[in-house]
Amino acid sequence: MDLPDEEYLAERREQMVRFQIEDRGVTDPLVLSAMRKVPRHKFVPAHLLENAYNDYPLPIGFGQTISQPYIVGYMTEQLRLSGGEKVLEIGTGSGYQTAVLAEIAGAVYTIDIICELVDAAARRLEELDYKNVFLKCADGHQGWPQHAPFDGIIVTAAPGAVPKPLKDQLKPGARMLVPVGELSQELILVKKRPDGRVEEEPILPVRFVPMRSEREKRP
Ligand code: SAH
Repeated sequence: MDLPDEEYLAERREQMVRFQIEDRGVTDPLVLSAMRKVPRHKFVPAHLLENAYNDYPLPIGFGQTISQPYIVGYMTEQLRLSGGEKVLEIGTGSGYQTAVLAEIAGAVYTIDIICELVDAAARRLEELDYKNVFLKCADGHQGWPQHAPFDGIIVTAAPGAVPKPLKDQLKPGARMLVPVGELSQELILVKKRPDGRVEEEPILPVRFVPMRSEREKRP
């Protein structure tokens, strides 16, 4: 079978944005245009290319997944970015969510505990010419204190509770999205008020891979 050409993939991407993202209520023009632009098919394993624009997560190796497109759109919109911000992402994975954020934010700091995934994502993002992305291989529970505070934090693996260092690294007035729980998970919207108080609100039932601790680094 011939490989799908770029024109066909661009058409599939447009349909993904219209029917999976816009039709389900994501309206932020920055998010929609970022998702129209980022070539999701470059973030999935070659044998899954045909499925890159479908309405579900896909395996990316090491027991991990690239999130469903709608979840990426929904979480990015919930960050309420207006452009130029400094954002922290925990769970780089394929780097797809990273690229969507990099289209909008001024700088994206992203951490994954699996170094092979960080290397592969770094290569992909470099090929696509993203110059505002900074990656590291580490346990995301600690955040990235050297670059804190952040204007937004997005976590794409599920911890048992919102990690305290991440709350500390959120700027007053900023928002964090984090899936919390084990068998049943809720996406939690964390808001740091201007006076520094932190509010947590569950906004959507979700299913993410668990966030690992340093001692269970290997599957
Ligand atoms: N945002 C990704 C999806 C990531 S899947 C994408 O768009 O492709 C979740 C990722 O979280 C996996 O890559 C996994 O290795 C990573 N992860 C799990 N526990 C972690 C931890 N403690 N610190 C950092 N990353 C972690």
